[in-house]
Amino acid sequence: MTVDDPTAGTPGDDEAATDALHLGLRDGEAPLTREQAAALVRASHPAHSDVRPCEACGSPSTRPATWRRGFRIAECLACGFLWVDPMPTAQDMWAYYNKRIWKPYPPEVIRRKYAPSVAAVLANVPPGQSVLDVGCDHGHFAALLRDRGYDAAGADIDGLALTYATDHYGLTVYQGDLPDIDFDRRFDAVTILSSLEHMVNPFHVVRAAARVLRPGGVLLISTPRADGLVHAVSRTIFAPVLHTWEFLAPPSHLTYFGRRSLRAMLRRAGFDAVTFSHQERDAAYRARELAETLAECPDAPGWARATYPLLRHLRTPARLLDLGDMTLCVGRTPAPSAPGTEGA
Ligand SMILES: [Zn+2]
Repeated sequence: MTVDDPTAGTPGDDEAATDALHLGLRDGEAPLTREQAAALVRASHPAHSDVRPCEACGSPSTRPATWRRGFRIAECLACGFLWVDPMPTAQDMWAYYNKRIWKPYPPEVIRRKYAPSVAAVLANVPPGQSVLDVGCDHGHFAALLRDRGYDAAGADIDGLALTYATDHYGLTVYQGDLPDIDFDRRFDAVTILSSLEHMVNPFHVVRAAARVLRPGGVLLISTPRADGLVHAVSRTIFAPVLHTWEFLAPPSHLTYFGRRSLRAMLRRAGFDAVTFSHQERDAAYRARELAETLAECPDAPGWARATYPLLRHLRTPARLLDLGDMTLCVGRTPAPSAPGTEGA
């Protein structure tokens, strides 16, 4: 990875170990060996702990890649998956989101915001079928699906949001983390749209989605893509001089997929026929993301300061090259008539 060295600007193992050698040492006490000291440092500083195997593809070939806003980001050398490491606990994230104040959106804003998601479902799931929206929040999207003729339900960890979904929309909802929910039925489709990147356990959620789907059922995921044109150009050209990469947005976004890592994770969770299509963030979101990132970099060289905001103009080539900022990923559980069928 070309982003700044994760050990730069933080105590290196040697330096930290040397500190530990003298820490609390009493007269006559044998100094710690370097290995003992390193273990002591790792135990008391989670950011120095060993990186976990890749949650997407399962590979043990992982490494610390960079830092962003005080969070260490790890990377899988096999599939390119990136994630916050160590991952916050679900309780930490619960506290983080509960601090947010929410006001109901006007209906026209809801329709505009979810239009690409509704189109994605219409293109992949016949109306009349059952759909479970995972991370359904206040139920806006599930309600729009019901208006289009789907038998829509929602699942979320947020009880207050679910109360709104039942009171305001009359939706059937399930509360909890998807792997922990006991469902009394199976669904034709599961949607995880713009929410996978907020989850601490994406593989377990996707595997749970495979269990709650009928054979031949459809999983739709939309998520920002590390291998989109803007983010890939930014990482290659600008991250080395800005010492930051706008794509990484912890703690709101905890996991960062490209198509290779998404495909690997879905295959591992039991899906076949994994396909992708183009999706794009809206232009205002991207312009704001670039401006906020540049504001974090007061020492950016003049050429970077002048050219970095121009990345927002890559919208058209990104669309033509199928390299948008987001991707829509569609996976299917194996149909009973064709077990083990391998798709695209
Ligand atoms: Zn991987």
